[in-house]
Amino acid sequence: MNRKNGETKVRSSDPVSVHDEIKAIIKKEDRFLITTHVRPDGDSLASVLVFAGLLDAFRKSCRICIDDGVPRKYDFLPGIERVKSFDDLPDSSGIGTAVVLDASGLERTGRIGDRIPETARIVNIDHHEGNSRFGEVNCILTGSSSTAEIVYDLYRRCDLPLTPEVARLVYTGIVCDTGCFRFANTGAQTLETAAEMVRAGADPGKIIHDLQNRHSAHTLQALGHALTRIRFFLDDAVVGMHLTCQDLKQFPEADTEGFVNYLRMIEGPSVQFFINEVQPGRHRVSLRSHEKDVNQIAGRLGGGGHARAAGCDITGNLEQVQDRILGCLSAVFKAGRAD
Ligand code: AMP
Ligand code: MN
Ligand code: MN
Repeated sequence: MNRKNGETKVRSSDPVSVHDEIKAIIKKEDRFLITTHVRPDGDSLASVLVFAGLLDAFRKSCRICIDDGVPRKYDFLPGIERVKSFDDLPDSSGIGTAVVLDASGLERTGRIGDRIPETARIVNIDHHEGNSRFGEVNCILTGSSSTAEIVYDLYRRCDLPLTPEVARLVYTGIVCDTGCFRFANTGAQTLETAAEMVRAGADPGKIIHDLQNRHSAHTLQALGHALTRIRFFLDDAVVGMHLTCQDLKQFPEADTEGFVNYLRMIEGPSVQFFINEVQPGRHRVSLRSHEKDVNQIAGRLGGGGHARAAGCDITGNLEQVQDRILGCLSAVFKAGRAD
């Protein structure tokens, strides 16, 4: 089958039946691969580790493989040493089921997707609206704050005891994707799940400390540099900033994840963007909005994400990249389609 346009056998609208289907697969399958999107974040890493814990409880073997390194700030996550890189997957022929978490399309797994044997079943668990439903089983719950919350729901439905490790992972996934409960995806259920995790042993202060207070000075200096570049566009409806490869040479290993969120603090603009040149001519773009649908905009630029937080990769020089983003935004603003 064409993985990228996989038929949907199970709709996401019924979490109970899709969870039952995944449970049945876990019981009958023995050889799992667990993966997630490139440039993994706290939600994707927490999700793969909770799913691995679930398989451990069923005494099933699994390999966790991601086509990118794990950022240092996530090294405190219990079990993180189990996450291997692409090069540690020389032979994938024995895989019976691949579980893909927090990825809106199989291509988001980078080279891992191509390594999944044609004969293997794909279980796709995610919370992105634009998920292409590339699995044989698709558990897509767009109302969930995070994929970690979905995986925990599955864990709970399997009647497994909630361990402090799982609680810490789920709490981390939730705080990472909700920006510490600040974003619009924070609902009553999110807070209830978070409270349950705290009761089970997740220490909120320590998790936030581990995530946020272990940066190098270079990360803050890179942020300071980016902030000096703040510019307004399209009659102040859009605010953006950028960092080039050249800039980043001054700040080795600066972690730029989340820089875009600082732009959200500025009153007025409805869309925020941050352009990060990851390699000469290759730009990672983060888009945010308080009320516009930036997923739609990122989609037009070859990326995706959520309504209020999306991203894409664009090649070219900075001016070209900026022009493409602004061209797209201005067309969508004029058509009044992005609200
Ligand atoms: P970021 O700006 O990297 O924090 O990403 C925001 C959201 O957009 C996350 O849900 C990402 O998974 C998603 N996203 C980022 N880049 C892409 C891309 N190139 N294609 C699809 N989704 C993306
Ligand atoms: Mn993610
Ligand atoms: Mn997520």
